[in-house]
Amino acid sequence: MTGAARLSRSAAGLLGESGDDGWGIYIRARELEAAGHPVRNLAVGDHDTRTDRRIVDALRGAAESGPLGYAAVGGTPALRALLAERASRFGPPVGPRGVQLTMGGQAALAIALELTLDDGDECLLIAPYYATYPQTVRAAGGVPVVVDARADDGFLPDPEALAAAITPRTRAVLVNTPHNPTGRVYPAEVLEGIAALCRDHDLWCIADEVYDGHLAPGLRHVSPRALEGMADRTLVVNSLSKSHAMTGWRVGWLTGPEAAIARAGDYVVATTYGIPAFIQAAAETALRDCADFEVALAARYRARAAAALAALPEALPCRAVPPEGGMYLMLDIRSSGLDAAAFAMRLLEEEHIAVMPGESFGASAAGHLRLALVAPEADLSDIMIRLGACLNRAANPADAVRA
Ligand code: PLP
Repeated sequence: MTGAARLSRSAAGLLGESGDDGWGIYIRARELEAAGHPVRNLAVGDHDTRTDRRIVDALRGAAESGPLGYAAVGGTPALRALLAERASRFGPPVGPRGVQLTMGGQAALAIALELTLDDGDECLLIAPYYATYPQTVRAAGGVPVVVDARADDGFLPDPEALAAAITPRTRAVLVNTPHNPTGRVYPAEVLEGIAALCRDHDLWCIADEVYDGHLAPGLRHVSPRALEGMADRTLVVNSLSKSHAMTGWRVGWLTGPEAAIARAGDYVVATTYGIPAFIQAAAETALRDCADFEVALAARYRARAAAALAALPEALPCRAVPPEGGMYLMLDIRSSGLDAAAFAMRLLEEEHIAVMPGESFGASAAGHLRLALVAPEADLSDIMIRLGACLNRAANPADAVRA
């Protein structure tokens, strides 16, 4: 035989249906930067803040004098105890055997789907959704079934719409609160409705809670794991990426029933064989000693959301989705009549500001823009003013010609 050998069906399945996933913006932003134009990049949820010095120092110390051989696959006992303590904040207490260290929240998500889906099983996704979800479901051999949370319902999911999408092949529902991209925090009654579906139809709930510390004042994070009868059918995805400005460190974990977590450990053995001991040492420091850093980071995003909202010019064909959590601001530009993807590209070309079009997160967010709040308050204020001016030019081309 000549040529490349055939890839597996599951590899082919990874491709899925193609849609605008926002890469166009990302690639063009890179091109502009390479051509010497500074771009304000609010397209990606990556902090503009460095990881706390204490965490970096712990890494350095462990790299210099700690073990450099194969590390504990499930996490060192000390780290596992800290993860268990943290995982117990929003639900029934779990011990170290209820948590598995993973390479970032993304690996925790992938493992949760591997654990719950057989080939061809369906997983309900609520759109808009974090952009990797459909592909991660397909990578696990599953079929993503998208149920829209409507903009006109404030992007809160409707348990009845989810119920209508359940078939005999449905095995799991993936829930993300605080929510990326909308910044919504699901109220307890919405989660109760989803939990009832899980119980009634014997489904797993995969709860992505990577923003559980990023909440507006007065709001409470409710984990599906805490709801009645849910601890045995919920797998919680979490990570230090967003809480401790550690996106590049790849520290995540999965929380769930001990039998499932033991199998999660088997997946880690079969794939990454754990994360390095010096990263684990840094994660211990983050969890044990850096609560002040975590609180300050979350407060910074709240202040930025407020500053961005305050700077949004009035009388624009634009409305903000109230940011309740996470590190994003979602703008509704439907009343402008503009195509959000085309406008995002125009904003990049004219103002060198990169934001994500809502469509990248599923069709239900069409007509919206997502801004990652990864710039200081003063810069965000300036960005909002320039965005507003660009939106006015795009929405009222006749005025621009007259001017
Ligand atoms: N889940 C959501 C909702 C996210 O926004 C992200 C990252 O942006 C992840 C999971 C992945 O987190 P990690 O960087 O820890 O893999």
